[in-house]
Amino acid sequence: MKLVPMKDILEIAGKRGIALGAFEFWSFDSAEDAVSAAEELGVPVILQTGALERDFNGGCKRLRVIAETVAADHDVPVALHYDHGVSYEELLEAADAGYTSIMIDASAKPYAENVELTRRIVELSHRYFISNEAELGVMAGNEGAVSRDKERQTRPEEAESFVHETGVDSLAVAIGTAHGLYTFKPQLNIERLKEIKKVVSVPLVLHGGSGTPDDMVRESIRQGIRKVNICTEFVKAFGAAYTAAQAREGFKYSVPSLFGPAKAAGRALAYSKMKLFALK
Ligand SMILES: [Zn+2]
Repeated sequence: MKLVPMKDILEIAGKRGIALGAFEFWSFDSAEDAVSAAEELGVPVILQTGALERDFNGGCKRLRVIAETVAADHDVPVALHYDHGVSYEELLEAADAGYTSIMIDASAKPYAENVELTRRIVELSHRYFISNEAELGVMAGNEGAVSRDKERQTRPEEAESFVHETGVDSLAVAIGTAHGLYTFKPQLNIERLKEIKKVVSVPLVLHGGSGTPDDMVRESIRQGIRKVNICTEFVKAFGAAYTAAQAREGFKYSVPSLFGPAKAAGRALAYSKMKLFALK
């Protein structure tokens, strides 16, 4: 299928009461893993990249070609999302390249500046007929080019006014997850999520999904999370399988023996995550 705006498939997720997986990809095999697993499960999927994958691949256009090519070969809706953009120029490149959704992360800035920059990105996305996401509240940890020490959870009253003032399509909330692998025991603030959900009608996004216990993720979906980002765990599945296969069998220099186990592990991870997110 053709790439679709993220807003459209988040609406489908809302109607079905499930969350969609958003997988960080960097290559044909990582994109294929996420999309083919989604097709098998019959759920829409989000392919996303940030600045690290853009630079690794030499620009947004190449990533769009990968996503578009893989999506065309599968019978499932796919959105191409740019995660954690920090400037207007960065997201303009993604929109120009054909991404169907862009995220601005101005969450570390003061509230008024976050609103101002998010408004500009919402306008930009409307000009390109694509979707947008913004973030309120601060998550700890590293994701792509974004790294922060301290966390500050999203305040419900601020979330309500933020969505109203910016007109944003979807909102990433900080409710206790961290980016990257956890260095502490994760504890999601489900009460906080419930309070946010009461006053915000746009789809809510859970960043820092990697390593969050399944039961907590399930509960957050019951309480309104519609998109769960999986970056570190997906990359780790490839890396761990690659290393293990070499240790087990020694180096064999054919493409399937060198990269096959990693590709299979990535697909298995994507499949299990989306299956979890689609459970009632
Ligand atoms: Zn994130």
